[in-house]
Amino acid sequence: MSVRVLVVEDETEIADFVVRGLREEGFTVEHAADGLSGWHRLTTETWDVVLLDWWLPELDGLTILQRYRKGGNRTPVLFLTARDAVSDRVRGLDGGADDYLCKPFAFEELLARVRSLSRRQDGRTGTLLSHADVQIDLATHRTERAGKKLELTAKEQALLVFFMRYPGDVLTRTRIYEHVWDERYDGVSNTLEVHVKELRRKLEVHGPRLIQTLRGRGYVFGTNVTG
Ligand code: CA
Repeated sequence: MSVRVLVVEDETEIADFVVRGLREEGFTVEHAADGLSGWHRLTTETWDVVLLDWWLPELDGLTILQRYRKGGNRTPVLFLTARDAVSDRVRGLDGGADDYLCKPFAFEELLARVRSLSRRQDGRTGTLLSHADVQIDLATHRTERAGKKLELTAKEQALLVFFMRYPGDVLTRTRIYEHVWDERYDGVSNTLEVHVKELRRKLEVHGPRLIQTLRGRGYVFGTNVTG
């Protein structure tokens, strides 16, 4: 799964340059042009790195950052600021930024920071993701159910990680395609169904069904879910 980057930036020129550049480097990049839509995307989707501008319409970057951290989210945030004053940098870092970059900046400089933050995120998520009797070690990719090792393909693994990050949530096909395949759902492909079927088969060797189908809506992962 490629690294997902959210760019919250209202200046079109900077946003275009950053989004295009990062996509060319193989990142999956989404853009929000104001504070409110940035906040919405930040809190409703999963990101590996966030680029957050300080001065934004609707809701400023520092407020967004503080709220995000208060909610317990540890996703790395690179704070973008036009200011170079020490006190402003300190405020950004105190607010929970992992790093900052002063405008104007060279793309190379931005790329180095984003790479470094995405690596840091890899290290941090080298922990166990678990739900009921299923466990995934995100560093080694070892997956177990009821203590038994599961042999999953890379896509099945990515799909299971995504389900396990949102237990109990209705995950639409569109959302799953975007996250696991980095593609838009064309409405007809059965790729997802095939992978879900195979993942269920492997999971259900060791216990009851965990991936429920909600007809016409998508899937829900977890115990105590009624489809
Ligand atoms: Ca701005």
